[in-house]
Amino acid sequence: MKNSRSNALIEAQNRKTPEITSGFDKISSFYGVNVFDKKKMKDYLSKEVYEKLINSINQGDLINQEDANQIATAMKLWAMSKGATHYTHWFQPLTGSTAEKHDSFFEPSGDGAIEKFAGSALVQQEPDASSFPNGGIRNTFEARGYTAWDPSSPAFIMENKSGKTLCIPTVFVSYTGEALDFKAPMLKAVAAIDKAATEVCQYFDKNITKVNASLGIEQEYFLVDLSLYNARPDLVMTGRTLFGHMSAKGQQLEDHYFGSIPERVQSFMVDFENESLKLGIPLKTRHNEVAPMQFECAPIYEEINLAIDHNQLLMDVMEKVARRHNFKVLLHEKPYAGINGSGKHNNWSLITDTGKNLLAPGKTPKNNLMFLAFFVNTIKAVSEHADLLRASIASVSNDHRLGANEAPPAIISIFLGQQLNEVLDEIESSKVSKKVKEEPTMWLGIPKIPNILLDNTDRNRTSPFAFTGNKFELRAVGSSANSSASMTVLNTIVADQLVKFKAEVDKLIKKGEKKDLALVNVIRKYIKESKSIRFEGNGYSSEWEKEAEKRGLSNIKTTPKSLDAYISAKTVELFANHNVFTERELHARHEIMLESFFKKLQIEARVMGEMVNSMIIPSAITYQNELIKNVKGLKEIGLGNEATEIPMRIINKLSEHLSALKNGIDNMLLERKKVNEMGDSREKAVAYDENIKSFFEDIRYHTDKLEQIVDDNSWPLPKFRELLFLK
Ligand code: ADP
Ligand code: MG
Repeated sequence: MKNSRSNALIEAQNRKTPEITSGFDKISSFYGVNVFDKKKMKDYLSKEVYEKLINSINQGDLINQEDANQIATAMKLWAMSKGATHYTHWFQPLTGSTAEKHDSFFEPSGDGAIEKFAGSALVQQEPDASSFPNGGIRNTFEARGYTAWDPSSPAFIMENKSGKTLCIPTVFVSYTGEALDFKAPMLKAVAAIDKAATEVCQYFDKNITKVNASLGIEQEYFLVDLSLYNARPDLVMTGRTLFGHMSAKGQQLEDHYFGSIPERVQSFMVDFENESLKLGIPLKTRHNEVAPMQFECAPIYEEINLAIDHNQLLMDVMEKVARRHNFKVLLHEKPYAGINGSGKHNNWSLITDTGKNLLAPGKTPKNNLMFLAFFVNTIKAVSEHADLLRASIASVSNDHRLGANEAPPAIISIFLGQQLNEVLDEIESSKVSKKVKEEPTMWLGIPKIPNILLDNTDRNRTSPFAFTGNKFELRAVGSSANSSASMTVLNTIVADQLVKFKAEVDKLIKKGEKKDLALVNVIRKYIKESKSIRFEGNGYSSEWEKEAEKRGLSNIKTTPKSLDAYISAKTVELFANHNVFTERELHARHEIMLESFFKKLQIEARVMGEMVNSMIIPSAITYQNELIKNVKGLKEIGLGNEATEIPMRIINKLSEHLSALKNGIDNMLLERKKVNEMGDSREKAVAYDENIKSFFEDIRYHTDKLEQIVDDNSWPLPKFRELLFLK
C-alpha cells in the first residue's frame, strides 16, 4: 500500500511525545506574565493616570488623548522589555475567528530609528472593513472600518518562535459606527444588564451599584494526528469528516469519559495550558470527554467580556500549540458522524459589586426573594425570546447537534431540577394575603430552599439551558462558536425582562402594595407565564418533541429558518430599546449568517465531489480491476462459475455503489447550479439546506459501503479507527 493514507499512518505510528520544557513551576509564578494587568499598569503609569484607567475599566469613563499617550508609552515599554517588536489591534470580526494586523514599533527618524507607539495608535486603527463580512454595510457607505481600544480587556503579548507581538483587544466598527464584530454589541448588552440588574437590586440592597455578568466557558474539542488529518481533504477543508464508516468500536463501551489521559495528549494539554496561563486565562480543568479522542478544558469563570476574549484566545493558542505536538485540534461541532459532537457550555451568572451571586439561593425565604427575582426573570426572559436564543446558537456546524438526535435539541427548554421546580410550584399555588404570618419555613408564600442545592442539582445532560446550583448553563452553544453571539442575546433579553419586572413591581407599589408583596406577586405571575419552557425529562426523546409542540414551543431544526428570529419586529424592538443593535445592524448580521451558512455547505458539496471523483471512485475501480484480473485468471486455469462467483459478486456490488455514487455527485452538481442562481440569501440558504444537503447522506452511504468492500491496502482515506484510536 502506498498512498497518502499509508504515509500518514507510518508517521502517526512513530510519533514521539515532545518534551515540555517549561511550566513545571508553581502556576502562580508564571500566571499572567504576558498580560499588561493592573499590577503592571500600576508600576508603569502615574498614579493619576492609573486611577483614570481603572475608572475607565470599571465604569467606561473616556480616556483623553494625553492620558492615552502615557498609557501607550507604558504599554510599549513593558512590551519591549518582554521582547515585543510589533503591536496589533486584536478583534473579533464576524468570521468567527480573531483578526490581527501587525505594525512594528519601529519608525525611522532623522538621526536613525526609534521605537514609537502613540496614544492615537493605541486607541484606534483603521483596517479595511471591506475584506471582512459586513452584510452589505460597506456597499452603501465607506469601506473603511476602525478598531477601537477596549480598556476592560487587558493588552497581552502573543509569542511564538518568530517573535512577540503586543495585542490590544478592540471593537471593530464601520466608519459610520455600525458594529462589524462580536465584541461591540456584547459590551452594550453587558452595559444593559448591569443597568437593569442594578436597579432591581435596589429593592433589596442599596449598596449594590454594579452587576457583572460572569461567564465560565467549558470547551470541548477533538484531537487528531496531524498527518492523518492532512490525508483527509474533508477535515482540512471543512473541519469535519464528510465520509467514513464508524469503526467497530466507538463510544459504546463508555470507556473514554474521565478515563486516564493518554501521555501524548496530556503533554499537549500541559503545553497549551501553560501558554494560556501566561496569557492570564485561568484554566483549571482538563479531562477526557465521552467520544474517543474528545477532550474538554474549562477555566475559572470571569467577567463575561474577559471570559469571551479568553475563550477566543484559548482556541487560537490550542491550535498553535497543537502543531508542536503534531496534533490538529478539531473545534467543529461534529467532526465524526456516529459519536458525540462538541459544545461549549456557557455557565452564566450575575455577580454584584458587593460580591453577591444573584443566582445563588440564600438561607432563608426572605433572603431568597432576591434570588427568586433574578432566577424567575431569567426563566421568563428565555421563555419570551426562546426563538432568538435558538437563533443565536445557529450555525451550519451546530445543526449537526441541534437538529439531529443529539444533546442538546433545537427546542429551547429550561431544566431546573426537582427541588427548584417544587419551590416554583409552591409559590405559584400559594395564595398570599397581606395577613399571612411569618413562618420559619414559609414567608409570603416562599418556601425555604434547601441550601444543599449546589451539590444536589441533577445533571440533565440533555437540556439546552440548565440551572446548576448557582448559575445557568447554556449548553447549546457550538464548540467553534464565538460565545458573544448567544451571550449578547441572553444578557439583553434578561436585561429587558428585568426592566419590565421593575416597571410592574413599581406600579403595584404605587398602588399601595407593600414592596415584598409586590415582588412576590409579579414573580408568581411570571412563574405562571413561563411554565411551558420548563422541562425536566429527556430532551432528545421523541415524546419531548410531541410534548413541546403541544406546549407551543418551537423546534426549528436548521439554521436558515431559525435565523428569522434575528429580524422579527419583536427582536428589532428589543435590541433598539437597549441600544445593542440597530435594525440595520441586525439585517447585516442576518445576511452574514445566511451567507456563511450556504457558503459552508457549498464548500462541503464541492469537497465531496472532488473526493468522490478523484479518490474514492478511482480506488474502487482499481480494486475492481484486480478482481477482474482474478476472474480472468480463474477462468484461464480452467475453473468455472463456482470459483468466479465470489469475485463476480464483489465486482457487481462495486459497480452498483459506483454508479449510485456517480449519479449522486452529478445530480448534486446540477442542483447546485440551479441554487447558485438564486439571488436572495435566505432563499439560497434554505435551498442549500433542503435541496443540496439532502444529497450528502446518500453519497456518504455509498462511499462508506465502498470503504467496507475495497481492499484496505488501497483505500486512500484514514479510517475512523485510525483517526479516533491512534494516540
Ligand atoms: P461542571 O458543570 O462540568 O460540573 P462546574 O460547574 O464546576 O463544572 O464549572 C463549570 C464552569 O462554570 C467553570 O468554568 C466554572 O468556573 C464556571 N462557574 C462556576 N460557578 C460559576 C458562576 N457562579 N458563574 C459563572 N460561571 C461559574
Ligand atoms: Mg458544566
